[in-house]
Amino acid sequence: MPKFRETPVTFTREEARVIRHAMGRSMARVDCPCCGSVLSISDPIDRGGSVGASYEVSCVPCHRFAVITEVPKIHKSEDEP
Ligand SMILES: [Zn+2]
Repeated sequence: MPKFRETPVTFTREEARVIRHAMGRSMARVDCPCCGSVLSISDPIDRGGSVGASYEVSCVPCHRFAVITEVPKIHKSEDEP
């Protein structure tokens, strides 16, 4: 669960999609699609089954939060169309 004092706002589906794509490129630095701050990403949470690992992603300035699943395989420096 998120470690916010109050219930955070969740990222929209579109924002989560952008975040997932960015995570697929580089987990080292993923910017918030709302404010551009560097997102805080949890260690992978292995939920087992076919879903695979998921990540809790949060933006402190925005007070936003999302659970990102199905992160694409990380490519080294390959731009996808
Ligand atoms: Zn933000």
